Amino acid sequence: MRFKYGSIALLLFVFAGSCAKEEPILKTEEVYHQELDDLLNTFKAETGIVIYYEASNDAEQKNLEIMHGINSDVYYKGEKKYQLLQYWIEGLIDVLKAYPKTFMAKADLKSVFIVNSGSLSYSGIANLSKRSIAINRLHNAGYKETLAHELFHLFDPAPAQSVWTTEQQQFDMTWQSFNPPGFVYGDGCGLENTIKTYTQGFITDYCRCNSTEDRAVTFQMLVFHSDMLLGKTINDSYLESKVNFIRDLVNQYGYNL
Ligand SMILES: [Zn+2]
Repeated sequence: MRFKYGSIALLLFVFAGSCAKEEPILKTEEVYHQELDDLLNTFKAETGIVIYYEASNDAEQKNLEIMHGINSDVYYKGEKKYQLLQYWIEGLIDVLKAYPKTFMAKADLKSVFIVNSGSLSYSGIANLSKRSIAINRLHNAGYKETLAHELFHLFDPAPAQSVWTTEQQQFDMTWQSFNPPGFVYGDGCGLENTIKTYTQGFITDYCRCNSTEDRAVTFQMLVFHSDMLLGKTINDSYLESKVNFIRDLVNQYGYNL
């Protein structure tokens, strides 16, 4: 009996020993932080795009933060901060690199802020003069869709927040000619931006806010919910014209949707 128990004990010891050897070596937060900075430096060198993810003393960052209504409290600061941020930002970089180069050249994106805050009302915001986007991860399980929306604002040939040339006015008038007769933008601002709020000519209620939101949402839906969007166009020639217009437009910049 003694021999038998001894064998079992030895066997358990051997198993325990082999399990311990296979334990992965955990990286420290410091290592994740360094890897993240290396990743961002490489991305910046390749694309010129800066990604901000925490407060710093950088004057340009502070200037851009004001534009996006960001204060130092809105950055992610949970447990395993750098590990999680590295994961998020690797994903973000993959998404940005997947956009056609010509489209990105037109959008001329210069910086992206990654924040995580309930005190900020937006899920995403774009600043046209600074070519900067802020993405609020707290409101964004699917941040890629918000990114597409904000990126389109930068890409839009007749963007909001700017004085339009005659050419831009004509571009916007062409877009507005697709609206149902007599429609005037303005009743959709602040309303829901989901397909379940569809009305004739507008894929979501939010599209009814203004023409630049209408275009950005139509693009966003074409990228992420094309089956549902195209389904609506079957009996909606207004929406069909808008979808075709966006498709033709982005196609000219290498984006085949
Ligand atoms: Zn928008």
